[in-house]
Amino acid sequence: MFDKKVVQILEKAYAKVALTKEDCIYLLKLDRNSTEANIVRAAANDLIRKRTNNSAAIFGQIGVEAFPCEADCSFCSFGKSHTSFSPIRVERDTIAQKIHDFCKGGDLYGLYMMTMHTYDLDFFLDVVKIAKENVIGGTKLFSNVGDTSYEAFVQMKAAGIDGVYHVCRLGEGEYTKLSPKDRFKTMENAKAAGLDLLDCVEPIGTEHTAEELVDRIFLSLEMECIQTGCMKRVAVPGTPLAKYGQISDFELGYILAVQSLAIMQAKAFPVIGVHEPNEIGYVSGGNMICAETGINPRDTEADTAANRGLDVDACRRILFESGFERLYKGDGTTVELNEKYIKECFEK
Ligand code: SF4
Repeated sequence: MFDKKVVQILEKAYAKVALTKEDCIYLLKLDRNSTEANIVRAAANDLIRKRTNNSAAIFGQIGVEAFPCEADCSFCSFGKSHTSFSPIRVERDTIAQKIHDFCKGGDLYGLYMMTMHTYDLDFFLDVVKIAKENVIGGTKLFSNVGDTSYEAFVQMKAAGIDGVYHVCRLGEGEYTKLSPKDRFKTMENAKAAGLDLLDCVEPIGTEHTAEELVDRIFLSLEMECIQTGCMKRVAVPGTPLAKYGQISDFELGYILAVQSLAIMQAKAFPVIGVHEPNEIGYVSGGNMICAETGINPRDTEADTAANRGLDVDACRRILFESGFERLYKGDGTTVELNEKYIKECFEK
């Protein structure tokens, strides 16, 4: 017989009744290979596809500069106490070319521009200007920078930013030199400046408990993020936390399934990312993928496009192979995702 409590929780999800933290903790404590866990995964996949008309979104991220970072995160290749990177700043023309390559298909939903915890605001505003000049098809622009004041976010908004990726990470203040209080303050600053918030439950390591994960899942709901998701902590060679290894894609997909069920209660449904992208996550409740170029905290290459980072063609292919039939675009429209469309975009 099936576990009655799991059946009740799934009936709630199908009836559009909000799951509680306790419900989600219960699901996260199931044996991942049990019949019930497999049904949870299938239910998350089913519900998200029904709610979105089987649509997914492609984002892109450009890491525009890197140097030994003061935040010194123990999972990141740029942490100042262990990095082997020399300072890098991507040239303006190269940034423009990378944005063009991401956007040329006309279906990139959003573009993140990423730099380190401390950054030069004037340089970043210039990057936003380059992005504004080069995006195609209504792509939204998002910052992925360190703790930031309200005034700086007002300037970013005036320059063309639509939203801000910012997270109080798992282990913030313990695995990083940053204060959770400052991280939350930055999120408040972004909202006060009229910007959307985007987040993720990250970086998930082998040691994180169901309770810790559920707290972060519900934080995205409380903050009304327009994009959330789950990201595993990659065991980047040379970083202090690499010795603990990393969770499997199967495990990441299951956590994401519970997250997807939990956020069905969100009024404005966010897209749900899988990092790093893998098909298991996209049949477990995920529907957002991110292409990456430039520097990347999870990579040891100076340009992640040559190593871990996917290009937009590869993102379309993964979503198609995972059964999605439509792509959300930044201008609010959708486009059909099929073999013909993938080929046409590839040839652009
Ligand atoms: S994850 Fe971000 S804030 Fe932390 S060290 Fe890396 S670049 Fe700095």
